[in-house]
Amino acid sequence: MTDPDHDERLPALAVACPSCGSTPDQLCTSHGGTRTRRHDVHQTRTQAHRALVDSIETELTGGCGVCDTEADEMCVGCGGCRCDRHDTCTRPTP
Ligand SMILES: [Zn+2]
Ligand SMILES: [Zn+2]
Ligand SMILES: [Zn+2]
Repeated sequence: MTDPDHDERLPALAVACPSCGSTPDQLCTSHGGTRTRRHDVHQTRTQAHRALVDSIETELTGGCGVCDTEADEMCVGCGGCRCDRHDTCTRPTP
């Protein structure tokens, strides 16, 4: 069993919060840090977490999460992602 008070309920705790500056695994705080938000997190944190999950999924499927290139979007010439320039890559003519 997993702890219901932890990541299961607030998966966004895996990342830091851009709004209140909470570090990973720390609950969000409001009112200058005097109030802990136990039941939700800032929306920006949810978005940050979703972006992270998306990039992890991209990596797992063979893509590059850094530049958000899916496996089937990789350079035809060298098989690399968009992190590099591909000026010298020759695209095979169909
Ligand atoms: Zn927050
Ligand atoms: Zn290339
Ligand atoms: Zn990349």
